[in-house]
Amino acid sequence: MVRRGSASNNGAASGRGDALKTAQQRQPVQTTVDYTQTSVSEIFGSNVFNRATMRSLLPKNVYKALVRCLDHGEQLDASMADIVANAMKDWAIARGATHFTHWFQPMTGLTAEKHDAFLVFSGDEGEANLEFSGKLLIQGEPDASSFPSGGIRSTFEARGYTGWDPTSPAFLMESTNGKTLCIPTVFCSYSGHALDKKTPLLRSMEAISKQAVRLLSLLGNKSRRVTCTVGAEQEYFLIDEAFYMARPDIINSGRALFGAKPPKGQEMEDHYWGSIKERVLAFMMDAEAELYKLGVPVKTRHNEVAPAQFEVAPVFETSNVATDHNMLLMEVFRKIAQKHGLRCLFHEKPFSGVNGSGKHNNWSMSDEEGNNLLEPGHTPHENQQFMLVLTSVIRAINKYGHVLRASIASAGNDHRLGANEAPPAIMSIYLGDKLTEVVEALMSGKKEITGRAGKKLQFGVAALPELPADDSDRNRTSPFAFTGNKFEFRAVGSSQSVAWPNTVLNTIVAESLDYVATQIEKLINSGTDINTAVEKVVRETLSENKRILFNGDNYSRQWHEEAESRGLPNLKTTPEALPCLVDAEVKDLFKRYEVLENDELVSRYNINLESYCKTVNIESLLTANIARTIILPVAFEYQQRVAQTIATTRAAITGINMSTQEHLLKELCEKIGNLQSGIDKLESLIKEGHHDDHAESGEGDNLNRARFYEQKIIPAMNAVRAISDDLEQIVDDALWPLPKFREMLYIY
Ligand code: ADP
Ligand code: MG
Repeated sequence: MVRRGSASNNGAASGRGDALKTAQQRQPVQTTVDYTQTSVSEIFGSNVFNRATMRSLLPKNVYKALVRCLDHGEQLDASMADIVANAMKDWAIARGATHFTHWFQPMTGLTAEKHDAFLVFSGDEGEANLEFSGKLLIQGEPDASSFPSGGIRSTFEARGYTGWDPTSPAFLMESTNGKTLCIPTVFCSYSGHALDKKTPLLRSMEAISKQAVRLLSLLGNKSRRVTCTVGAEQEYFLIDEAFYMARPDIINSGRALFGAKPPKGQEMEDHYWGSIKERVLAFMMDAEAELYKLGVPVKTRHNEVAPAQFEVAPVFETSNVATDHNMLLMEVFRKIAQKHGLRCLFHEKPFSGVNGSGKHNNWSMSDEEGNNLLEPGHTPHENQQFMLVLTSVIRAINKYGHVLRASIASAGNDHRLGANEAPPAIMSIYLGDKLTEVVEALMSGKKEITGRAGKKLQFGVAALPELPADDSDRNRTSPFAFTGNKFEFRAVGSSQSVAWPNTVLNTIVAESLDYVATQIEKLINSGTDINTAVEKVVRETLSENKRILFNGDNYSRQWHEEAESRGLPNLKTTPEALPCLVDAEVKDLFKRYEVLENDELVSRYNINLESYCKTVNIESLLTANIARTIILPVAFEYQQRVAQTIATTRAAITGINMSTQEHLLKELCEKIGNLQSGIDKLESLIKEGHHDDHAESGEGDNLNRARFYEQKIIPAMNAVRAISDDLEQIVDDALWPLPKFREMLYIY
């Protein structure tokens, strides 16, 4: 008899046994950087064409023009671009680069690159020269036909172009045999449509800056520019590569589509902030060294709640650089994990039964001087600014929380939001007790509240009590929490680019800043003084939008009921969440603030729906295939063994009572039957789905298809899994071919 997956067996079918052995024998891998010889400050940014490098390499006038372009959004003229390109090329070649690429973020949610050598061949003399012009720096022409466009560009007009984004620095990507100069770019069609995630983000930063500057100027703050800042805390799982290789579901879909909950999950609460295992720490330090070279300011590392789950957090940067750096971080983590015999999983829910992963998007804005606009501050003036910005954010989330929810909708993230996990799909804001007290006092027009140590504090809006900086007492269940001097949007999925959620956040806050500034302007124009105007607008706006504030437990059933009575949407799945993107009002919002034209927004809606269907389709095909070709045969084998045992025992002893053995055999037969019919049902639904795929596609069709996948395919997939997980707990462990959760999550 073939013994599949036996821990003591070698051979094609013993993937699990071999994986166990390999994983157990692995050793930590050394990094290439030795910190006793090299300090972090020496390597930090060494692969980045950053300001310091530019200052040292560029003529003064060119450097100054570039700084004006970076800080004030001024255009850089073509002759200057030539000089920058040349300096960039020399710098890159001196460090061993042979190729360059425009590095961009198409709507796949990943990054894209197409490398070109710096070489120019001169035909006559057979020579090769190294060249790179301003023209090549500023613009590239990738064949855009194979990137998703969501219907705004048909393939016959496939040409798109990439355009240099000087606000995110160029960098050198190291690989085994050389380096490549990567130039961050935007990606647009020739008709000017954004085909990427970066263009709308940059536009939304402009929009919010414009409105924030307007509001600040009413308060006498002369900033000409306001910048959004983001710090993206990243959660991830690490498993041994040998287990990964023995799990076709994880290889192809990023998550375990099968697997019973392990006897030990996260209930002991012994992993969170536990001591980091040697192999994992070796990986973390290696990955960090690579990120330091790329100028990514990673700062914090720790074990997360679930076994084999971890977190890395950088220091915040401007939104567009933070976005690029988060994409780089994920790429470097994936790459370096393999060097360490590990695989890094960014999926939102790789293992059911333990926590999934998110990306906490810490967000704020700062003025030209770098002052954080969400810093409560000490002076009455700072207080006013803070209250107005806070009020604008509260209004934005109340008014457009559903759009923000839509911005993070994906098949992967549906396992967190809307499931029994943090945070829920209901958007609400946590302010903390102290700030809530202030907000409530302001709404009721009260002039006095109790400050720290019971002291009464007088205030109009012009003199708020000082907020204790340590008041951001933790509420981990809130999707949108004020944490002292920033908001933390916790519903972003771990695998998602932060570009789109920040685009939406910036746009909806821009609209509220616009609203608040307009209200104040109106009052001032009719003779009201600024302090009274601010107080009135803050009071009224807060009162109108207070239903979004909630400090309690967001997981509780009571909150779900209460939220419903407050009229807050609870959009649990992607097909439920996405349609708001094509509401007339939302289309108008994005158009008004020049972030997305109507067709650009519709294209994102279509791409998100398509991506949802494709993801679920791949998972369903994998589920059917693995169940039929890997799990079913093993179950039959065990059934046969039990049957044989009963038969041979009967033959050996007459009159023996075999009822418990017969019961087991019956149970097996029944479950195997259920598994087979489950697979049959799933397969026929998949066929039905594919049949629909060939139908003409339009906005409505995409949504119908997504609903079909949500309402028909996913339940059928879950049913197959449930029976298989059941069988996993009955079938002889030595036969079970797929690495189990109790192994994958603990042996590394
Ligand atoms: P915690 O989540 O425990 O409050 P930190 O205060 O260290 O932890 O902040 C977490 C993340 O928030 C970090 O990435 C940090 O850089 C980022 N952050 C801090 N201040 C801001 C800000 N003004 N804008 C955006 N992100 C910020
Ligand atoms: Mg945090």
